Amino acid sequence: MKEYKRPLPITTFWSQPFWEGCKRHELLIQQCKICNAKLFYPKLFCPSCLSSELGWIKSGGKGKVYSYTTVYGYQPEAFTDDIPYILAVIRLEEGVQMMSRIVDCKPEDVKCDMNVVVVFKDVTDEFTLPMFKPLLSVFKNS
Ligand SMILES: [Zn+2]
Repeated sequence: MKEYKRPLPITTFWSQPFWEGCKRHELLIQQCKICNAKLFYPKLFCPSCLSSELGWIKSGGKGKVYSYTTVYGYQPEAFTDDIPYILAVIRLEEGVQMMSRIVDCKPEDVKCDMNVVVVFKDVTDEFTLPMFKPLLSVFKNS
C-alpha cells in the first residue's frame, strides 16, 4: 500500500466500532436503544435521553450535501498535494450529519442538497476513511 502521509484518526473505545465498520466498507451510526435517536459522531451517552444503551446500525451511505467549502490554500502541510479539495457536511438519509470530503467531483460542480453516496478509501492497512461522491441520476445527460 502506498505511504499515507496525512493524519490518521485517533480512536476511542466508543468510536472503535465505527472505524471497524469502515474497514469492512460499512458506514455505521449509533442508535439509542431507549429512545431510538440516531447519533453521529460516536458517543457514550444519548444526547436526547442520556441513556448509555447505544447500539450500532448500518447506514445506507446516501445523503445530501448540507454545506461545503473548497480548500485552495492555507491547508495543513500534509494536505498540500490534495488542493483544491472539498470539505463538506453530509446529512445522511438517517438524519445524522457527518463531516467528510467530496471526491470524484470538481469544486465547481458541488452544490448544497446534491445527492451523494459514501465511498471507502483504504488509506493504510489499519484505516479506511469514509468519503462521499456525487450520486448521479440515471436520467442525467452529461
Ligand atoms: Zn436516547
